[in-house]
Amino acid sequence: QCIAVCPTGALMELDQVDKVWKALNDPSRYVIVETAPAVRVALGEGFGLEPGTIVTGKMVAALRRLGFDRVFDTEFGADVTIMEEATEFIHRLKHGGRLPILTSCCPAWVKFFEHQFPDLLDIPSTCKSPHEMLGVLAKSYYADTYGIDPQKITVVSVMPCVAKKYEAARPELGQDPVTPDVDIVITTRELCRMIREAGIHFERLNDEEFDHPLGESTGAAVVFGTTGGVIEAALRTAYEWLTGKPLEHVEFESLRGMDGIKEAVIPIEGREFKIAVTHGLGNARTILEKIQTGEAEYDAIEIMACPGGCIGGGGQPYHHGNVEILKARAAAIYEEDRSKPRRKSHENPAVIELYKKYIGEPYGERAHELLHTSFTQRPKI
Ligand code: SF4
Repeated sequence: QCIAVCPTGALMELDQVDKVWKALNDPSRYVIVETAPAVRVALGEGFGLEPGTIVTGKMVAALRRLGFDRVFDTEFGADVTIMEEATEFIHRLKHGGRLPILTSCCPAWVKFFEHQFPDLLDIPSTCKSPHEMLGVLAKSYYADTYGIDPQKITVVSVMPCVAKKYEAARPELGQDPVTPDVDIVITTRELCRMIREAGIHFERLNDEEFDHPLGESTGAAVVFGTTGGVIEAALRTAYEWLTGKPLEHVEFESLRGMDGIKEAVIPIEGREFKIAVTHGLGNARTILEKIQTGEAEYDAIEIMACPGGCIGGGGQPYHHGNVEILKARAAAIYEEDRSKPRRKSHENPAVIELYKKYIGEPYGERAHELLHTSFTQRPKI
């Protein structure tokens, strides 16, 4: 399950394990690792555990044994993404911006619309994806706070995704051409291999906690890992910001499940918000063509390229199309969400502190500088 080749042997993903070992063995480098939500519910499969086993604590322990200087959580970046995306959505509502807003945290989907739907280039959210946000904050906020030279920091992302390797190399996702937000991306399978190469008995590890402050997260950030989760997390925050009232029931059941296209109408303050969730690029094309022809109108759409969202990503242990494995991983994501003391991104105390001390207003000038990006029209293929 840990072998990083495509099932037919026709393709081999860009293997970056050697680059990570090199950084870890270089005493001049300060090596930070971050892990995506979907990794913790699938990594255990590489060590013979049942699909859907939550191994967050063991994963953190293993990463420390591998020698990373700090173990942070991409979920912190996901909470920051919601701060920005919910604000951007409300900004468009209040200032007559173009709707629907489209989520943009999936790089395969971003590349798809850049090639296929150039006329819709202004509707995706301009938010960077969560691992890019974590990367830039590690090299700015964290580096400034703890007096570390950002040029000495190497950020390694562990992702369920092979497209994130390409995303990290996009020139606009860095503070200058030589300082990318994220330096190296490895997949869940590559991490699995590293743990084996180091001779770590993963199953025997005791649970450990992420480092602070970029290891703090809420349940809203966990659900990013499965289809429907990004829009659910955004709604948990947008609802409270639009109404000024607490949201009692945070679970949006109508946005969950494995249907290829899900639609829901969510009433907020006398207005009915039309939401759609899709996974798989064929479904994305269907829904975008309906928008182009005016056949359908939505306020917000979540689009993920992989079946089931990131739990079914191309860098995960192979599921061979077995939907039961995806369902088990999704159930683990929701279990992790329920176990969190805070389940709304705007309630993350470390995120609140970040804005107070460093960013200022969400969607403000500093936020744009660090946390937002742009898209490029590319030739139709
Ligand atoms: Fe990567 Fe797939 Fe998740 Fe998109 S849906 S970010 S391609 S794992």
